[in-house]
Amino acid sequence: MVPANEAETMNLDLVTPVDALETVSVEKSQGRVLGQTISSQLDFPHWDNSAMDGYAVRYADVTAVPAPLTVVEEIPAGQVPQCTLQPGETARIFTGGMLPAGADTIVIQENTQREGERVTVLESPAAQAFVRKQGSFYRAGADLLRSGTRIGATEIAVLAAAQCVPVPVYRRPRVAILSTGDELVDVKQPLGPGQIVDSNRYALAALVTQTGAVPMPLGIVPDQRAATRQAIADALTQADMVISSGGVSVGDYDYVDQILAELGATIHIRSVAVKPGKPLTVATFAGTGGQHQLYFGLPGNPVSSLVSFWRFVQPALRKLSGLSDGWSPTFVWATTDNELRASGKRETYLWGQLSLREAGYGFSLASGGHSSGNLVNLSRTNGLARVPLGETRIEAGSEIKVLTLGSVLKTRTHDSALGLGE
Ligand code: AMP
Ligand code: MG
Repeated sequence: MVPANEAETMNLDLVTPVDALETVSVEKSQGRVLGQTISSQLDFPHWDNSAMDGYAVRYADVTAVPAPLTVVEEIPAGQVPQCTLQPGETARIFTGGMLPAGADTIVIQENTQREGERVTVLESPAAQAFVRKQGSFYRAGADLLRSGTRIGATEIAVLAAAQCVPVPVYRRPRVAILSTGDELVDVKQPLGPGQIVDSNRYALAALVTQTGAVPMPLGIVPDQRAATRQAIADALTQADMVISSGGVSVGDYDYVDQILAELGATIHIRSVAVKPGKPLTVATFAGTGGQHQLYFGLPGNPVSSLVSFWRFVQPALRKLSGLSDGWSPTFVWATTDNELRASGKRETYLWGQLSLREAGYGFSLASGGHSSGNLVNLSRTNGLARVPLGETRIEAGSEIKVLTLGSVLKTRTHDSALGLGE
């Protein structure tokens, strides 16, 4: 059994990021990974401008107040100033307006008194007050956004401001998803005795999409050697990464590892000291040009399958997507409301509700059993509390590390308003 942290590092070392680029419009770049470092030929701000509504002045004119000045021009945003300010002159200016030549300081309109073409400055400003200097945010030619950055709303704003269109992004990795098990049926099929819905396929596809990759659900594979072999071989022809669920334990119908070996894979990991999710197969298939495809054989139990994805597949998939950092799961410190128990033999994850409170994050265990088959109480949770390897009991009120699932951390008030609390 490989310790969880070691498994994560091994997996990341096995990943060769996709290097193919494509271009997308700025509107479609949300969630994509920037494939080239972007720079601009323009300074930001492009020219000196005013951060406030007020008057553009020569600082030397307003060191002593009251200072009467002559208004020679009005400069709304988008208009090019015509005058050069002479001593004793000022220009009415609005937020975003270009500073006229000769001006070096803005006096906010609240500190002035206007009468016709004259304005009196009543309070002396600091030198260069409220001037956004050309190039003070960014100098032309420097790196504006680095390759490997996940594009979100802010990055979209920067790309648009720099007129970086179309946007060069990495091709999204294709991830094949196989569900092994004779008991599995499609979501629309009536359930016979002994059958269950292949829920992992849908959950894993959603997680792959959330991670910014393209899921390719290839359906249910019966527990037969030939069918499993064929399905894995087919998946390898289409995908950058293959994820299967089920069939990696030590049961009589668990063929995945044998078949991977037959197909020429190198098996790096067979089990990880983690609960849920101990049986986890990580293998690689050698491809052309030093590239290889990563194979994750996840346990079939729905909770184990999801936890294994969050803990091990997602970091590898993030790296595969071209992200330059931030691959690992996000953990936060939280105070646990409940006592947490584990066997001590495996790093253990217990799911529950993470919430932001006055004193920081709090964690409350989901009620009901923490069985790796219990999908039901995993839903509506947003955190996995970690009991480290070697620890058997963590007292209520202790500080623990919680792996966050999704960014919306509900507050307790919000929970009780929704009737989701205990
Ligand atoms: P296995 O890892 O194949 O031994 O499966 C372990 C447990 O997970 C069994 O109870 C399976 O019925 C269940 N299981 C396996 N695959 C899936 C799946 N795709 N969706 C939901 N449950 C599954
Ligand atoms: Mg099975």
